[in-house]
Amino acid sequence: MIHLGFDIGGTNIKAGLVSCEGRLLMKNSRPFPKQDDSACVALMETMAAQLLKEADLSLSDVADIGVAVPGSIDPAGEVVLHAYNLGFHNVHLKAAVSRLYPDIPVTMANDANAAALAELYGGAFSGKKTALLLTLGTGVGAGLILGGKMFNGGRGNGVEIGHMTLDYRGAQCSCGSRGCLETLCSAAWLVQQGRREAQANPRGAIAGCVGGRMESISAKTVVDCARRGDAKAAAIFDQYVEYLSQGIASIANILDPEVIALGGGVSLAGDILYSPLRQKVKEKVFFKCEYQIVPAVWGNDAGIIGAAMLLGNSKK
Ligand SMILES: [Zn+2]
Repeated sequence: MIHLGFDIGGTNIKAGLVSCEGRLLMKNSRPFPKQDDSACVALMETMAAQLLKEADLSLSDVADIGVAVPGSIDPAGEVVLHAYNLGFHNVHLKAAVSRLYPDIPVTMANDANAAALAELYGGAFSGKKTALLLTLGTGVGAGLILGGKMFNGGRGNGVEIGHMTLDYRGAQCSCGSRGCLETLCSAAWLVQQGRREAQANPRGAIAGCVGGRMESISAKTVVDCARRGDAKAAAIFDQYVEYLSQGIASIANILDPEVIALGGGVSLAGDILYSPLRQKVKEKVFFKCEYQIVPAVWGNDAGIIGAAMLLGNSKK
């Protein structure tokens, strides 16, 4: 038997066949049909049929189906309440997929949860029971593993570590609160600070790196300039690591996790990120011990693998 996983994103839908051990065997990807959930479900069916045909398998070989979605899902796991990137609001996605495959169990989860789950299977969380994934992208996503299982909140509403308060007088967050981890530790914060510096110093390294085109400044621009020894970029990145270490230390004080993995674009910054981050977390955390803070392993495949393993993990 095999697991079928879908990862629905605002840019692409990805589908994959995953072994019982959580190994991704085959995958495909298609552009997401904007704002249209029935076109999305129809495309999912086409993609699955193509994968099964290529693998010389049939629907009777599929043990279960998992769907990862970038948004909030009702506690019963049936309805996508809000997925802003997809334009989905109150979409009964699980029922729509189940109508296509009436004999196969379908499970749905938030994509950050799925990504955390994927790391249990040959990734950064292999053999671990308590682990945290933070995805440092445009926003900050988080997935939590407790007791070797995905933890989706005590009432099933989810785990929103990205909205933990770091500065209660800080910038307004999309959630309605202020100074959330997401407002200070996302790639967007690095972009904002990078642009501010480039505007203030048009002859500086950051402005020079993009030929004065402010809109081209990315988180990677700041990281690259910091790595090359530019003092202004290094100061911005140091402040970023300071905020991130504060957030991770606060979580570590509550959970004492065996491992913390970082995903998303900023997680690729390498040693300039991990060495100072481990040191700062160690200084801040109550236990004054070093935490294992590592890059996530599965990257763009995490959503598919995690989605495919949802039902298996929930039965553990
Ligand atoms: Zn928030």
